[in-house]
Amino acid sequence: MKPRDQEATGPLRDAHGRAITDLRVSVTDRCNFRCKYCMPAEGMPWLDRADVLSFEEIERLVRVLGGLGVTDVRLTGGEPLARREFPRLVAMLRGIETIRDLSLTTNGYLLERDAAALVDAGIDRVNVSIDSLARDRFHEVTRRDALPQVLRGLEAIAAHERVRPIKVNAVAMRDFTEDEVFRFCELARSSDYQVRFIEFMPLDGDRSWSADQVLTGAEIRELIETRHELVATPREPHATARVYRFAQGGGEIGFINPVSEPFCADCNRIRMTADGKLRTCLFSIRETDLREPLRAGATDAELDRVIRDAVWRKELKHRVNEPGFVAPPRTMSAIGG
Ligand code: SF4
Repeated sequence: MKPRDQEATGPLRDAHGRAITDLRVSVTDRCNFRCKYCMPAEGMPWLDRADVLSFEEIERLVRVLGGLGVTDVRLTGGEPLARREFPRLVAMLRGIETIRDLSLTTNGYLLERDAAALVDAGIDRVNVSIDSLARDRFHEVTRRDALPQVLRGLEAIAAHERVRPIKVNAVAMRDFTEDEVFRFCELARSSDYQVRFIEFMPLDGDRSWSADQVLTGAEIRELIETRHELVATPREPHATARVYRFAQGGGEIGFINPVSEPFCADCNRIRMTADGKLRTCLFSIRETDLREPLRAGATDAELDRVIRDAVWRKELKHRVNEPGFVAPPRTMSAIGG
């Protein structure tokens, strides 16, 4: 199905009338951690380097997408800081006038090293993934004894007041995260980091996900409210998180509940993988190749048409809770958050 004429020009829209303004770019599928809910201890079969988009190719595609109405770009991985000279890519994308907001999702391990260079390059916001604030339990989940290094990275980027908000994302896992909740509450109450719990999704490398392993946002909120009164804040348009503030003292805590409370109705997001595939939904089972036409010499107008056609067919919603749900062949580490 092709976009009608009026959709063949103007800002990107899907067939459900949603404007698409948010792009997640995975700059690598490689990672220096081995989180249990994401990949096996031995890692994943990595993409060949020749298949991975160069910085110049990423910049070109982001520029084309910027011309189609994309204003917010989030850089993800794998682990984006593991890609050599990553701050140079940030500076290249910062130079694209149509990109209003440039953010990063990282596991924080290399953040202490790169914080100043990222700020100089123009990063606006940073999300750091931390699933436990106890060193041994952090090691247990990530298979890396790296919590002190990650916390130093968090402090290093927080020292740059221009980079705000800084969010800490914890994947919620049943029979694990319950014992982390109040540590994260103390972090949220004693800092200006916004802490969010993200429900475990069926995008794991060893395909062991099941619905009964999902510790829902509602369950975590109930647990928190046994000690702290929470006040809901208004939901931002297109927001993935439902954010609450602590009634007593400061701090905000959020819940990203893609499984128990999907937020697809006003989704404005698309994704680009490290090997140049356009994904119109996190759970897409189909992808549109942008790398091949790009390397075959396609013009911006030709790329524009390929992107419009793909976005027009964007999925209305995910079907995780429906019988017959099929998980995407690509796992989270190769899609990016
Ligand atoms: S699951 Fe897909 S449609 Fe739903 S919010 Fe995520 S990306 Fe958007």
